[in-house]
Amino acid sequence: MSKLTPMMQQYIEIKSQYKDAFLFYRLGDFYELFYDDATKAAGELEITLTKRAGGDDPIPMCGVPYHSAENYIKVLIDKGYKVAICEQVEDPKTAKGVVKREVVQMITPGTVMESNMLVEGENNYIGSLSHFEDGSFVIVYNDLSTGENRLALMEDGWDSVIHEFYHQPVKEIVISPSLPEDMQTQLQERLQVTVSYQDEVNFNAEFRDLSDNLNDERLMEAFSRLLNYIQRTQKRSLDHLQPAEVIELKQYMTLDMYSKRNLELTETIMKKSKHGSLLWVLDKTVTAMGARMLKKWLERPLLNQVTINRRLEVVGTFLDAFMERENIRENLKSVYDLERLSGRIAFGNVNARDLIQLKRSLQKIPEIKEALGELRTPEVDNLADALIYPEDTVNLLEQSLVEDPPLSVKEGALIKEGYHEELDKYRDASKNGKQWIASLEQKEREQTGIKSLKIGYNRVFGYYIEVTRPNLHLLHDDRYERKQTLTNAERFITPELKEKETLILEADEKSVELEYDLFIEIREQIKQDIPVIQQLAQVISEIDVLQGFATVSEENNYKRPTFEKGVFAVENGRHPVVEQVMKSGTFVPNDVQLNNQNQMLLITGPNMSGKSTYMRQVALIAIMGQTGCFIPAESGVLPVFDQIFTRIGAADDLVSGQSTFMVEMLEARHALRNATADSLILLDEIGRGTSTYDGMALAQAIVEYIHHHIHAKTLFSTHYHELTALESTLEHLQNIHVRAEEHEGNVVFLHQIKEGAADQSYGIHVAKLADLPDELISRASVILEGFENNGIKEGPEEEEQKETAAETTEPEEAQSDQLSFFVEENNTPSKPAKLNNKENKALE
Ligand code: ADP
Repeated sequence: MSKLTPMMQQYIEIKSQYKDAFLFYRLGDFYELFYDDATKAAGELEITLTKRAGGDDPIPMCGVPYHSAENYIKVLIDKGYKVAICEQVEDPKTAKGVVKREVVQMITPGTVMESNMLVEGENNYIGSLSHFEDGSFVIVYNDLSTGENRLALMEDGWDSVIHEFYHQPVKEIVISPSLPEDMQTQLQERLQVTVSYQDEVNFNAEFRDLSDNLNDERLMEAFSRLLNYIQRTQKRSLDHLQPAEVIELKQYMTLDMYSKRNLELTETIMKKSKHGSLLWVLDKTVTAMGARMLKKWLERPLLNQVTINRRLEVVGTFLDAFMERENIRENLKSVYDLERLSGRIAFGNVNARDLIQLKRSLQKIPEIKEALGELRTPEVDNLADALIYPEDTVNLLEQSLVEDPPLSVKEGALIKEGYHEELDKYRDASKNGKQWIASLEQKEREQTGIKSLKIGYNRVFGYYIEVTRPNLHLLHDDRYERKQTLTNAERFITPELKEKETLILEADEKSVELEYDLFIEIREQIKQDIPVIQQLAQVISEIDVLQGFATVSEENNYKRPTFEKGVFAVENGRHPVVEQVMKSGTFVPNDVQLNNQNQMLLITGPNMSGKSTYMRQVALIAIMGQTGCFIPAESGVLPVFDQIFTRIGAADDLVSGQSTFMVEMLEARHALRNATADSLILLDEIGRGTSTYDGMALAQAIVEYIHHHIHAKTLFSTHYHELTALESTLEHLQNIHVRAEEHEGNVVFLHQIKEGAADQSYGIHVAKLADLPDELISRASVILEGFENNGIKEGPEEEEQKETAAETTEPEEAQSDQLSFFVEENNTPSKPAKLNNKENKALE
């Protein structure tokens, strides 16, 4: 190290504190990277790797210009890396020895604030996970760009933590280094997320205001862990952070990770795009804040009927009031992203244009309030009342900032006249001086008799008198001091002009400085209003989501559902997404009837007839209803489902047969263990991943288990025709099927759901249509008959044997201290799931 230059020694010293980040080390106009950082960054950023002399070996080095650094940083952040920005913190001109440098900010995937690294209608969450001796966990979510803080206490073990993170993905997770290693590995491997560490947890006084809602030591500790990490990395004002909100998971419908994925709530399975998801259909919001809130609502449908009905009521009111709704929509369109703006105000990186945007957004509030007021319903009035117009803020901005300020806040032209006396004086001085100069031109022309004499100004030479070459002989006076020579003119200055120039430039300089100071003052003043602005942002988002629900309900003819425990009765229901992607009018609506008598539907029908569409439709209608949106149906009575479990289609995308089956079993296990009588379970063709008898046996056992023990509303599709016999023995199970017909030699899928089982010989029909030899067809019919007679000989099992189904999903070598196993796509589990004691009990 001693052989290194002092600067490189400084580099190594700083780098040693930021081992997990790329250190962007400021050197003049560049950020330089050295050693391993340089080698790795050169590859990732596709920039040239060079070398710098130092020590025994040359030091690998690469660099990016500071003014375009943001783009390079974005590339690294998008790849999940962290970047530490190390600046010169003293003036190189006055520094003795090596210029002092410090890391001024860490940019990490979860803490980006730069708008080019954020997606408009989406939150950018960083999460933290803390574990406690009693086996509980706390998850904290923060979106630094909006200031949102939410916490959830997880007392149901590790599984639920993973499910929660699947459900609400984060860009980065902050944990304590003492989190057990296997858990750390799972976070990294299964969630593929950047993991950061924060060991020390200090509860600062600063956090007190934010944590008023937290009455549990565990919550406080977890919250502090995340805030400590953010402070440590951001090193600047975090005044926009909002008070922590506790997510009471019990107040929301639980959607396991499979459901959110399988039902394509916010993105499609295959392409991971919003297009084609439920969110895509329902998103008629016009603000970025509204779009973010809608996503949150869909991810957590409600359980509380009062709140659900309140939302539905507003949607209904908006739906009936087209004119007012259009008016509100129009006004909302000019409302800027107040949440992210607040974040940037706190961070100190807003310019005058942003504040003008803020003003214009706020000025829309009275109009929105008025439009809401015209609707005259208590629910809408509540929303209107919550829209508090921050008049003082608007007045301040109105009086102080010009309407069209420049981008830069350091070059003046920001502040209105009449706002500040001293500023006006400087401006007067400058203006008067300029007028004086204009009149000087006239005077000089008269005195010299040179008609073409001009007075001009440029940045380098200041004010000058310009005389063309042929007229030079007319200048006799020695007042004229030569300043600049052009091809056919000379430029001069006089002592008189010089004096005025000094006055004008001084006044200009002072007024620019003063304008900057005033701007900062205004910004600080607005900072005090951040909580008010954030509160407004919340209400505006809500109004936006609800007007969006009304808009989509009107466009697609959705109807308001009512709620009744234990009943799911939908008339002419449709799949909200499939109906959108199909030619209009071609989707075939279907009824759904589930109640305390008919709890389970066993669906048969040929492939591609619409079984899984029907099942998904049931879940999506339930989710839409519980989110407070109208539903795609002619009418609907819905229960409030506490949870939805699915085992649909998704496994089709997986690679190997074995893993498909394992995933299937794990998903089934998850449902069987957690579902209640108030849950919805969707099982699509379960058991298909293994041999026929094996699969059929499991399928039947699962149906029976749910029927006897869980009583959840269940839709079960199968191509094991034999299972339809269960209807006669299972009291709460009903057979339904999807109709298909032959028409002029072709199979026509009618997509209509009918009572009873599908025609079993359907496959043979199709084979006949396909013109297979007659002999073969008759032979198949005979074999089929044989199956029908001998297929499932066993009737449904007796109560005492019921556990068999669950045990099948359970390995023999269950161990007490192991984590349960999660299977992820293209990860074939080599071992069966291991359950811990508690989990074993849950299955018993
Ligand atoms: P299955 O699960 O029986 O194999 P799917 O539910 O995947 O069948 O449906 C197959 C296709 O049939 C869907 O992609 C859709 O285009 C069409 N479909 C399904 N249900 C309907 C319906 N109710 N009306 C019109 N088309 C439908």
